[in-house]
Amino acid sequence: MGRVLIIGAGGVATVAAHKVAQNKDVFTDIMIASRTKSKCDAIVKAIGNPNIQTARVDADNVAELVALFREFRPDLVMNLALPYQDLTIMDACLEYGCSYLDTANYEPKDEAHFEYSWQWAYRDRFEKAGLTAILGCGFDPGVTSIFTAYAAKHHFKEIQYLDIVDCNAGDHHKAFATNFNPEINIREITQKGLYWENGKWVETGPLEIHKDLTYPNIGPRDSYLLHHEEIESLVINYPTIKRARFWMTFGQQYLKHLEVIQNIGMSRIDEVEYEAQLVDGTGTARVKIVPLQFLKAVLPNPQDLGENYTGETSIGCRIRGIGQDGKEHTYYVYNNCSHQAAYEETGMQGVSYTTGVPACIGARMFMLGLWNKPGVHNVEEFDPDPFMAELNTQGLPWHELHDVDLEL
Ligand code: NDP
Repeated sequence: MGRVLIIGAGGVATVAAHKVAQNKDVFTDIMIASRTKSKCDAIVKAIGNPNIQTARVDADNVAELVALFREFRPDLVMNLALPYQDLTIMDACLEYGCSYLDTANYEPKDEAHFEYSWQWAYRDRFEKAGLTAILGCGFDPGVTSIFTAYAAKHHFKEIQYLDIVDCNAGDHHKAFATNFNPEINIREITQKGLYWENGKWVETGPLEIHKDLTYPNIGPRDSYLLHHEEIESLVINYPTIKRARFWMTFGQQYLKHLEVIQNIGMSRIDEVEYEAQLVDGTGTARVKIVPLQFLKAVLPNPQDLGENYTGETSIGCRIRGIGQDGKEHTYYVYNNCSHQAAYEETGMQGVSYTTGVPACIGARMFMLGLWNKPGVHNVEEFDPDPFMAELNTQGLPWHELHDVDLEL
């Protein structure tokens, strides 16, 4: 039983807030705080529970965060803002004395580069303070790592080959849109690919390697090898892994737009000077803008995609290794999530849903004392069993296939 503070009021935070509000048995007091308070108020209105508190906070500002924490007294802070805020929120948690959970690892704003080292550097401080930090508790990272932990616990002596496969077979009926924050999404996809093989990282060109993979209830989809953060911790926590890769599907329409965006310089993350009109209409001024942030302002808002979104996502882990009987086995564990069902329950599409639900379950695990372990931990370091059970009852049921052709 405890007090939870959600930071952020985007698609993922909206879903997590709905779910946290449904889990009344563990979350006694809830606050949603973000940069724009009206967005927090709109979430509370949609949930229809006036007891949920809201506040405005700039999560880049540690002093503001600590002042808010002193006022609300959270046991756990769920960081569902952007990866840029991970470290300031972790700093504030340490200064006030509460635990932390997020869904994406830290990225500096001026460099499209993500890795865990910045957050792992907080391990000693969280441990000494007796506080828990749960890193990467969305779907991927998140459920994919818990799927891997579950496979290691119940089905394999040695996981040797791991392929995380993420398919979005939905259609939002827009020419181009991203399913979560466009800035973070485009930074991720335009990076070089990276995978782990025989004890070292292998780099590829951006979206250079791709192949058709068949997804349950969906069929074949062109899937591209990307660098994804959970691989970094999984190959450390499961050292028997010989090769670990991450695959994500993209349609030709999406890729065509992405190519144009890059070619015309709109994916740039450095500042450019621009002659802008003053909002009061009194003239112009030379201002600095980041093209990718400007692009975000004109692209569809991922939170508005849900109403007309059809189809489903399918995300899972395809694993090959030595089973508990000493023989080689394959295993495929996955969840399919319908965009329409997600929208009907929370007003958000499936990608926000598949991230917000695991964040809520992770927070529930913490409140129940099942995932309460001082230090900074990736989700595969906790017991996967109670989390896997909750996935089935909280809207993301999973399925497993044994000794099937993994195509990889
Ligand atoms: P959105 O852009 O929809 O929401 C982000 C929210 O954070 C907005 O409400 C924004 O405020 C708020 N915010 C941004 N900066 C600040 C700040 N300085 N102080 C306070 N609030 C701030 O993003 P999503 O909901 O799509 O994604 C949220 C997170 O989830 C991201 O970190 C993303 O990487 C992660 N994610 C993880 C996935 C996984 O499976 N693990 C999958 C998808 C997303 P405002 O409304 O005012 O702009």
